[in-house]
Amino acid sequence: MLKRLALTVATFAAMGVAAQDYPTRTVNMIVPYAAGGPTDTVARVLAQAMTKPLGQTVVVENKASAGGLVGAETVKNAKPDGYTILIHHIGMATTPTLYRQALRFDPLKDFEYVGLVNEVPMTIIGKPGFQPKDLKELTAYMKANKDKMTYANAGVGAASHLCGLLFMQAVGVDVLTVPYKGTGPAMNDLLGGQVDIMCDQTTSTTGQIKGGKVRVYGVTSPKRVAALPDVPTLDEQGLKGADVGIWHGVYAPKGTPKPVIDKLVAALQGAMKDAGLQTRFSELGAVSYPADKQTPAALEAHLKAEIAKWRPIIQKAGVYAD
Ligand code: ASP
Repeated sequence: MLKRLALTVATFAAMGVAAQDYPTRTVNMIVPYAAGGPTDTVARVLAQAMTKPLGQTVVVENKASAGGLVGAETVKNAKPDGYTILIHHIGMATTPTLYRQALRFDPLKDFEYVGLVNEVPMTIIGKPGFQPKDLKELTAYMKANKDKMTYANAGVGAASHLCGLLFMQAVGVDVLTVPYKGTGPAMNDLLGGQVDIMCDQTTSTTGQIKGGKVRVYGVTSPKRVAALPDVPTLDEQGLKGADVGIWHGVYAPKGTPKPVIDKLVAALQGAMKDAGLQTRFSELGAVSYPADKQTPAALEAHLKAEIAKWRPIIQKAGVYAD
């Protein structure tokens, strides 16, 4: 008994020392979607900017799966030592309702919170040369061709899934959905003409829209996006109820020691002050949260509020994964 107690004390002491020295090696930032997509883009910009204040390299690792479930589960099960962290979006708040079966992770119980990062609107886009040229034509086309056309998303629980649901509900038509492990690969297929439309974050679509590579039908935010001033909102074009904004937060496994979380919070806040990061985010249509939201308490409060906000909307829409 005494021996076990001594061992436990020694283990905690070792953890305390390790926590004080943290970080002594590379930190892995898990992205729950494929490389080349919008979550991945935000992660890569942030990881690079966190490297300096943290004093160690932050590398992005993609654990891609439809709905982003595997990435969150991987971080839940990782050692709580600060060397594996998660960046995730609104999916942390919507998956608990979208999946009627219990998830293998609980967003409110299995993680320590680091802080909020940014908000990103979404855009409804179409494949190059797609017949409908604007939203009015698209909604008419969807009604006439609902059995022929396809909508790409990143699986149930993805932001693109949620946006698509709201969009199709607002239009009043369901089209065939094609799930991917992230909208990076979905964008490749859209550019190749294999799928017709999708809804994706401006972090991925701004360049394609500006370069004239895809058709654009509107942004999902209540106001126009500074990076895309010529693109009208869905709302101003008379389509109500498809307003959706994506937010990102950083998490660590439950039980990560407080001194380690404190260092991660400081690194997040330091990174968010970086001029290069700020320029890149605004080019991509992303709006950074202010410093008082880049905190564990703000992320926890926001996550809880978003779970409560989306639950009745998803339930009313009657959309579930099973
Ligand atoms: N945009 C994706 C989503 O629909 C995620 C991604 O690939 O980053 O959630």
